[in-house]
Amino acid sequence: MTENADLTPSDIAAVLDRAADGGRITPEEALALYRHAPLHALGAAADAARRKRYAGTEHIATYIIERNINYTNSCVTACKFCAFYAPPKSDKVWTRPLDDILRRCAETVELGGTQIMFQGGHHPDYGVEYYEEHFSAIKKEFPQLVIHSLGASEVEHMSRISGVSAEEAIRRIHAAGLDSFAGAGAELLPARPRRAIAPLKESGERWLEIMELAHNLGVESTSTMLMGTGETNAERIEHLRMIRDVQDRTGGFRAFIPYTYQPENNHLKGRTQATIFEYLRMISIARLFLDNVAHIQGSWLTTGKEIGQLSLHYGADDLGSIMLEENVVSSAGAKHRSNRMEIIDLIRKAGRVPAQRTTTYEHIVVHDDPANDPVDDRVVSHLSSTAIEGGTAHPELKLLDAR
Ligand code: SF4
Repeated sequence: MTENADLTPSDIAAVLDRAADGGRITPEEALALYRHAPLHALGAAADAARRKRYAGTEHIATYIIERNINYTNSCVTACKFCAFYAPPKSDKVWTRPLDDILRRCAETVELGGTQIMFQGGHHPDYGVEYYEEHFSAIKKEFPQLVIHSLGASEVEHMSRISGVSAEEAIRRIHAAGLDSFAGAGAELLPARPRRAIAPLKESGERWLEIMELAHNLGVESTSTMLMGTGETNAERIEHLRMIRDVQDRTGGFRAFIPYTYQPENNHLKGRTQATIFEYLRMISIARLFLDNVAHIQGSWLTTGKEIGQLSLHYGADDLGSIMLEENVVSSAGAKHRSNRMEIIDLIRKAGRVPAQRTTTYEHIVVHDDPANDPVDDRVVSHLSSTAIEGGTAHPELKLLDAR
């Protein structure tokens, strides 16, 4: 992709005005804005587009309470940016038994969580049957929990292990209890950067093909982007274009969630992270370019709470989750932790009214009166722990006290 090199400042202002008003912009225009639009003007246009989309509820910013449950770190795919996995024959491999997983679900329910994100490596033996067994067991005991988990990469892997088509894999895990895909594994969709960081993963085209298939089977998803492993600006915009094209056909991506690469404990160690400015520019350009994706999520986990807060002024309408447990991004160095009261306070201080949401973005409770704020101080994001007093961390993973 080449940008429109001859865009003048007034051309850029005109493109920003059109996008702020909800008009579609081309990939070339998006690249020009991403590179050259003044940051404040980009943010203002994205915020205007957000307000227009959410007219009537534009004063609200949402969060969700969920738990990431990591079922194994065994993985045959060996992505270079990943600090979580262990090769299958390594003595560092662990798997989490079903009763432990169910206990973590029980804690999630007790703490007011509504969603679990089942997340793990590409285990050499885990086919469709493994996920069917686990999802149906979770749904049997906790029908109120939404299973928003996995992504196209896991579908590709499990269907290969079980010798079935991706379509059959999706149908079966959906029938067993999977509600929606979390869109993991998108990383960077264009071929060059994807091969550089995840050479054993399916291609970006295949990732999108499986997500499109899922959408057509009634399983919606979110979409993600990993920034900062050496991709170019043009490749970032190409990633957005690939998502937007599928979304034009399916409408199945509920949200777009960019996050920044964390450089510790992996094979890319030392490579440059995306800067905070690049991240904020991406939040804004996503809001403007992805005119067909409803929600843009700010990520306080990888960029920090203040930047998460700032993202609400650059086009984001949601701050994602208070993760009662998270191990994957944390393993690579993301050490930001928060709790429910702090997230509510952050959103309020950003000038918005906080609201807890469901997976499908309905408001569960709108915190419009501080006097009625929740007071349960156990709703805290943790690393590798059980969230309730007396719980035990997995021995391979460190327990940090987040309080
Ligand atoms: S990112 Fe996922 S697929 Fe890649 S190595 Fe890590 S656990 Fe495996």
